[in-house]
Amino acid sequence: MLSQKTIEIVKATAPVLQEHGNTLTRHFYDRMFSHNPEVLPYFNRANQTAGKQQAALASAICAYAANIDNLGALKEAVELVAQKHASLQIKAEHYPIVGENLLASIREVLGSAATDEIVAAWGEAYGFLADILIKREDQIYREAASVPGGWQGFRRFVVSKKEQESSVVTSFYLTPEDKGSLPSFKPGQYITVRVHTDDGQTTMRQYSLSAKPNSDWLRISVKREDGVGGTVPPGYVSNLLHDSLAVGATLEVAPPCGEFFLQDEENERPLVLIAGGIGITPLMSMLQTSLQTYPNREVAFIHGCQNEDVQAFKTTVEELKAQHDNLNAHFRYIDPQKPLDSNGIEASKGFIDEKLIETMISKRDAEYYYCGPTAFLAKIHRLLNAWNVPHAQQHFEFFGPKEELAALA
Ligand code: FAD
Repeated sequence: MLSQKTIEIVKATAPVLQEHGNTLTRHFYDRMFSHNPEVLPYFNRANQTAGKQQAALASAICAYAANIDNLGALKEAVELVAQKHASLQIKAEHYPIVGENLLASIREVLGSAATDEIVAAWGEAYGFLADILIKREDQIYREAASVPGGWQGFRRFVVSKKEQESSVVTSFYLTPEDKGSLPSFKPGQYITVRVHTDDGQTTMRQYSLSAKPNSDWLRISVKREDGVGGTVPPGYVSNLLHDSLAVGATLEVAPPCGEFFLQDEENERPLVLIAGGIGITPLMSMLQTSLQTYPNREVAFIHGCQNEDVQAFKTTVEELKAQHDNLNAHFRYIDPQKPLDSNGIEASKGFIDEKLIETMISKRDAEYYYCGPTAFLAKIHRLLNAWNVPHAQQHFEFFGPKEELAALA
């Protein structure tokens, strides 16, 4: 247990850390990468450049400080971090590296305001949280390895099939190189792929599993991230996968992880799946699973995207709609390029909004799963909050470091 004195010091210094949050976390990452370059492969450089990783850490530190006497309030946040860490194979030996650099950064950024007593209190608080995460992550690793077909660390997979889903999205069907069996996973979960970079390092990215669990392959569907003019470089891994990962090539994959998944016990309420762009991937797995497992459950599926050319899984959703009377689906295009002739599924122009969702469901008391760009998540979150949809009935996933939807909404 944390001492009462530590709790008091951490709570008392929380506002100061909040004030300096982004400066502190920027300093921290710069410091850690120069003192401990061995941790670089665990981080996405593009997220560093955009400042998302720093902002996510700053808000996590502030949330921890604010709730240090009520850690139950952080249960979900801890699970999210533990799942992300486990997906990246972060281990107990990494925690002292982060701890040392964090405490040194507190001293370096706050100067004389960071007394020995304050730094010692934060050291104790960090160690306490690290301990919780290490134990949970160890449990996740053991579970992933012990389920039938499961594994630990990275396993080599062969690309057995490549399928173009749209002008920007390609699916990769992955089968174990060792020809062993595959584990089941929870629809909505993701795997991590590790690739080699030009400078001899490795880097990792998460990709949602885009089909329901099956015994033959894991499928990921990757959007090619183009650069912008000469100013924004193209996405590293998505382009590498699109351009260089041919059928027969191999890829290192860590086991399925994630806390955004279809909850089995909630099947009494209607299921509402709302996707923005490539955010459709985890929802496809949920859609296929739900239709198979609960053939009578009311399901609404909405996919919003730029236009039909970039839209992935259009035909698959049309086929599912033709087979399942309990599915109500709608495509919404920001800038449609073709006449809005529906192939069994209504389509319309614009952004996903309250009116559309309202027309798709029989009642607001439903289970909502949504995934897409941050602005899209913030909009849906704001809308569902205005409908008083309880937090427990709202499930969403970020395709990057977690951001504060409440702040954006
Ligand atoms: P990065 O190199 O990481 O770049 C990211 C973005 O930043 C790109 O748009 C790039 O153009 C831009 N950028 C790069 N360098 C700079 C710079 N110096 N300055 C400014 N901008 C820069 N993606 C999918 O396609 N399908 C999925 O199913 C999927 N599931 C995911 C699930 C989870 C849980 C998470 C966290 C992410 C998921 N992603 C998914 C996103 C995926 O992990 C990658 O982030 C994505 O493919 C981009 O990676 P990249 O290496 O191509 O781009």
